[in-house]
Amino acid sequence: MIFKFKKSLGQHFLKDTETLKKIASLKNIENQVIVEIGPGKGALTKMILKQNPKKLIVVEKDKTLQPYLIKIKNNHPKTLEIIFDDVLSIDFNKLDNNKLILLANLPYNIASKLILNLLKNSKIFRYLIVMVQKEVAERFSAKVSSKAYSRISILAQLQSDIKKYFDVSPEKFFPKPNVTSSVIEIIPAKKYDFDYQKLDQILKVSFRQRRKTIKNNLKNLKKFSEKEIINCGVDPNLRPQNIKPEDYIKLSDALI
Ligand code: SAM
Repeated sequence: MIFKFKKSLGQHFLKDTETLKKIASLKNIENQVIVEIGPGKGALTKMILKQNPKKLIVVEKDKTLQPYLIKIKNNHPKTLEIIFDDVLSIDFNKLDNNKLILLANLPYNIASKLILNLLKNSKIFRYLIVMVQKEVAERFSAKVSSKAYSRISILAQLQSDIKKYFDVSPEKFFPKPNVTSSVIEIIPAKKYDFDYQKLDQILKVSFRQRRKTIKNNLKNLKKFSEKEIINCGVDPNLRPQNIKPEDYIKLSDALI
């Protein structure tokens, strides 16, 4: 079988057995319902199946991978379920009645968007263990005032706890990507009540220009008022990267 790798689908397949084993056995997943996004030829899928999950649902966009995945399914007809679809159009609420665990070596181009989308449905997940580009992992876990602190850090950290496990070098993949990857765990945790749309809107405006003060970035908002910013306990002369996640909730409630 000759397989043509598709760059547009982020097809960098992990070929290092030790790393695959390490990812699949980070936690005890015996008897749990697992979702794997982008199984590719099924290298991680096979490792997950060795951990005896109750069920493994894989979602793959590339139908040309069907022969590889069907072969695995034939050995695990009851446990493995294959869905050929775009993960961005999957309703995870309908996949299973049990809480889900997500395990995946994610396609880089959709990783951030997908994780943020999944966190909106966080009640259905126990946790997510994902491999993403190292830079993306840093953005998710960046603390206030650090270089990588951004909209993604804030949205993720207000809804989850994030733990980094280890980095994976480009040599461990085929074809070799240009970047290092990291394996992280995201554990959904409801910490605050907030309006997601409003918060996201304020974050997009606030981080439009990192070098500008928050006051200058927010000037385009209809309800802009420097006094309101001060009333939220925020110094209007701070840069967006110096404002804590909780303060962005206050700003979104006051200004949008
Ligand atoms: N799991 C395999 C591994 O570890 O070697 C492959 C991981 S590879 C980084 C990403 C996989 O996601 C590819 O198989 C690709 O076809 C699939 N993919 C890309 N975009 C997708 C999407 N929108 N929905 C579902 N699968 C997607």
